[in-house]
Amino acid sequence: MTTTTQVLELKMLINGEWRLSSNPDTNKVINPATGELIAIAPRATVEETKEAIKAAKETFESGVWSKLSAQERAEYLLKIADKIDEKHDELVELEVRDNGKIKAEADIDISDAASCFRYYAGLIRTPDGQTYHVADPMQAMVVREPVGVTGLIVPWNFPFLMSVWKFAPALAAGNTIVYKPAEVTPVTATKLVEIIEEVGVPKGVVNLVLGKGSVIGEVIAASHDVDMVSFTGSTEVGRSIMRNAAGNLKKISLELGGKSPNIIFADADFEAAVDHALLGIFYGSGQVCSAGSRIIVEESIYDQFVEEFVRRAKNIKVGPGLEEGSEMGAIVSEAQLNTILEYIEIGKNEGATLACGGNRLKENGLDKGFFIQPTVFIDVSSEMRIVKEEIFGPVAVIQKFKDEEEAIKLANDTIYGLAGGVFTSDGAKALRVIKQVRAGITWINTYGPTYNEAPWHGYKQSGIGSSLGTFGLDEFQEVKQININLAVGPTGWFSDDK
Ligand code: NAD
Repeated sequence: MTTTTQVLELKMLINGEWRLSSNPDTNKVINPATGELIAIAPRATVEETKEAIKAAKETFESGVWSKLSAQERAEYLLKIADKIDEKHDELVELEVRDNGKIKAEADIDISDAASCFRYYAGLIRTPDGQTYHVADPMQAMVVREPVGVTGLIVPWNFPFLMSVWKFAPALAAGNTIVYKPAEVTPVTATKLVEIIEEVGVPKGVVNLVLGKGSVIGEVIAASHDVDMVSFTGSTEVGRSIMRNAAGNLKKISLELGGKSPNIIFADADFEAAVDHALLGIFYGSGQVCSAGSRIIVEESIYDQFVEEFVRRAKNIKVGPGLEEGSEMGAIVSEAQLNTILEYIEIGKNEGATLACGGNRLKENGLDKGFFIQPTVFIDVSSEMRIVKEEIFGPVAVIQKFKDEEEAIKLANDTIYGLAGGVFTSDGAKALRVIKQVRAGITWINTYGPTYNEAPWHGYKQSGIGSSLGTFGLDEFQEVKQININLAVGPTGWFSDDK
């Protein structure tokens, strides 16, 4: 398939049928690096979303997926992983066109996605039960079962990978799915569903609806036929999901926003700390939930750090993701670009000093896309909105600390608790400090690497529940205790002798 000029006509998959919506309003998907139209997607109606939920419910109850053996489901997952590998280059290119990220980043996403399916294919075949020696003659055991119908709602920053973090454990556990990708990035999401269909996963197991979160996302979150919603996105929408989920007390798993601290001590390897801190905030053009957007630097090296960080930030080559040499790609949409630019204005008005960047880039053919300079603010204080709020763009604030205690205090001065980093050559100090950072994903002398084997988990207003690892599978399972009487006979509790 050539993707360079073709405008893709996306469809939804409801109960095994690829279809458009009865809603004449469509979603025009554009390449944020060039402004070109790349796809036209339907906008599902409430009714169509309910049909998708019904299909997922009936399919779950039929047992065609939930009652397969772990080995059988694992085989499907392995086939999905192989197909992702087979289509790797196509998926990478589509992800770049859809999201605006650079090719090297999309390359990692697609490889990780295949690996995630393989991980859960293996995990679902490992022992997962427990037995307990309770009161004789009873034997208790615990088994795990699928939750049922799961609603998977994902954001636009890692469209393929964030979906796979949910799909792989949800399918491995035997659930059925109603899937809603973000409106700005539905292209690789649709490809993922095509792949799942191609390998022969039974119809109705995966249902794809495309459309507005405020319309169809709400329907999924509120439906009494959905047993669980696994959501990744903003904290604000996460709150709304939680309210809607209350109707039938469905399970929720929420992976939300962040404003993560990256603490740099004076005894750190200076060059490495600057380098990792740049990656921590400017990877993905800063549109990364775990971005190290608050860099907190020890007083004695603060000026030197700022000087070197700014010099290196100015050197980052911003450009289209498919262009050779681009190091930081486009912002996903004009709306997101405007949000970031507004925050930059807010920062200036709050009295912070703009150390570099701050502008939209339009020269050298970038005018049709949504590009922005790597931006750094200094002279900031904790009350400023640019220090408190998630900007979700390539904007760093650099704060200063005197001692360990102040570093930890600044790091934890946030409503969020997603990620955090510490750079120091003192091993005990590194561990002492990181243990006090109230966040679920942390790094020492690095910032950003993520592995399918380890849980991805937010503290505070960064979320509820976990993705990845064994914890990620737990989310998609119920646990049931079965108590077995090994000496069958009457209890004699109620006397029959009256
Ligand atoms: P968003 O919250 O606007 O949207 C996420 C998804 O929810 C989209 O599919 C959207 O259509 C849908 N949605 C919107 N309103 C809804 C509603 N009322 N009910 C149900 N669904 C609704 O987020 P975004 O702008 O797509 O993504 C950026 C956010 O995602 C950032 O805050 C970022 O930190 C967060 N994020 C978190 C993680 C994590 O693992 N913690 C990972 C990636 C992104």
